[in-house]
Amino acid sequence: TYVVTENCIACKYTDCVEVCPVDCFYEGENFLVIHPDECIDCGVCEPECPADAIRPDTEPEMEKWVEINRKYAEMW
Ligand code: SF4
Repeated sequence: TYVVTENCIACKYTDCVEVCPVDCFYEGENFLVIHPDECIDCGVCEPECPADAIRPDTEPEMEKWVEINRKYAEMW
């Protein structure tokens, strides 16, 4: 899955939301999140993010961000 990380905070762009084929972006408190169970790992959103906030969860120390993304995505 891909996850939204801290660079997204206060970002006003929604390019990522527009390109996601499965609409798995949700609004968190002050940033967007990706629902980790709905993301199909296509990677289309990553290069669209002007803040470089979207990372694959295969990168180091992403567990924390997966949980944060899940927490806010599941509030909807
Ligand atoms: Fe959506 Fe694909 Fe990004 Fe997952 S990797 S959030 S499915 S655009």
